[in-house]
Amino acid sequence: MSNDEPLLTDMRHAPGWYSILSEPAPAKRLKDDQVADWVVVGAGVTGLATARRLGELAPDARVMLIDDYRVGYGASARNAGFIIDTPHLTEELTDEENRCHSRLVLAGTEQLESLVQKHGIDCEWSRKGHLTAVVDPKREENLRSTVRMLEATNEDYEWYNRDAIARTTGTNHYHAAVLTPRSIMINPAAMCRGLGETMPENVEVFEESPVHRVEPGSPVRIECAEGTVTAKNVLLTTNAFITKLGFLKGGVFPLIGCGSLTRPLTDGEQAAMGGEDEWGITGVTTVRRTQTNRILIRHGTYYTDDFRLTDNGRRNVAALHQESLTRRFPMLRNVEFDRTWAGVFCMTMNWASHFGRVEPGVFVALGYCGVGLPRGTVSGTLLAEYAMGGENDLIRDVQAVSNPKRLPPQPFLGLGIRARLAWYRWKSRTEL
Ligand SMILES: Cc1cc2nc3c(=O)[nH]c(=O)nc-3n(C[C@H](O)[C@H](O)[C@H](O)COP(=O)(O)OP(=O)(O)OC[C@H]3O[C@@H](n4cnc5c(N)ncnc54)[C@H](O)[C@@H]3O)c2cc1C
Repeated sequence: MSNDEPLLTDMRHAPGWYSILSEPAPAKRLKDDQVADWVVVGAGVTGLATARRLGELAPDARVMLIDDYRVGYGASARNAGFIIDTPHLTEELTDEENRCHSRLVLAGTEQLESLVQKHGIDCEWSRKGHLTAVVDPKREENLRSTVRMLEATNEDYEWYNRDAIARTTGTNHYHAAVLTPRSIMINPAAMCRGLGETMPENVEVFEESPVHRVEPGSPVRIECAEGTVTAKNVLLTTNAFITKLGFLKGGVFPLIGCGSLTRPLTDGEQAAMGGEDEWGITGVTTVRRTQTNRILIRHGTYYTDDFRLTDNGRRNVAALHQESLTRRFPMLRNVEFDRTWAGVFCMTMNWASHFGRVEPGVFVALGYCGVGLPRGTVSGTLLAEYAMGGENDLIRDVQAVSNPKRLPPQPFLGLGIRARLAWYRWKSRTEL
């Protein structure tokens, strides 16, 4: 990485998925003193869905969606771009909790699919399925446990051996994988931007408008950098940044995840790679070959309570991604990553989310522990319905997987997380 490249967790800069899109229209900033019925803070997938549903349910209301950067700069556009409609990474949960997750992610996926189709959002949407894979034969048991979870929730899957994976991807690097056939791959920044551009008429989107303070009450008062809003209610969909606004301290913590994207491969490089022209693998290292013939690598998870990578982490990330690429595809050793970025996972104590009212006039939906595109979407929609007094089966599902335990205080929290990450890294050292 050169010195003037955007810093990895610096949200002022576009993530890789965003920087390959066309130039956006100029941002509209929130200015002066305003009055609204509903304010949504945070325009990731959760806030986009919340604002849309409020706009639909209350077409005469004034709804404001406010973000401190551009729509498509948050974690919702800094991820690996998998919309996975099966329970994922939730082996710690009970079968009944996984069934709730399943219903929620299916509903979120359907919502996203119908919006992308309805508005013709060009975001590389493709329902190709995805492989969950292990490199090290000793880790096959991890895959078997994924299979047990899929069977417990009646999900379709297919077991892939080394040859089958090589036919799909062109690399012999993997020992085994499980295909879940309905997963979708997207350019997440293009999807977020498209969703932001197609809001109901009564929803106004304000970007580059950081919210500095939220004063609960009736009405709620929201202080932004260049203006204020007085509103009946505010819905905070701000990922782990919510603690900076003074809410849920001791309820969430950030982990930093990193991704890199190459330039489009040349015809010669594609031929040398072999395999199919689009695929995705999740695992300790996530890899995708995208519709625009780029390779994405996501690897590395770090803890920092100031939302930034340590210097050491920052130096390591790009080198790790390069090594992951070369191990799988030695013929691509000279293909450097154009863009490397990081985003924030909103983590909780026991994989449960936060959902509902936290103070008079203040509602929240966040904390998807790393898998949030469909979960965030459905949670945002349900938060709007809940805040308007709605009750339904999906709201009961989201409540059943919410209300996480309180986190231990610092310094025990930081020590515990660092120890757990170090243990995870050691256990999965063969998966690079
Ligand atoms: C590297 C990485 C890979 C991932 N891969 C996947 C994947 O493949 N599939 C998947 O489903 N999930 C994945 N995730 C997780 C997923 O991206 C998140 O769970 C999801 O995007 C969370 O959405 P959100 O709306 O809660 O938060 P965000 O998208 O982070 O949105 C929150 C928004 O709030 C804004 N905000 C915060 N504070 C303020 C403030 N004070 N004022 C104004 N605005 C504010 C931020 O700018 C941001 O835009 C990944 C995450 C990372 C980091």
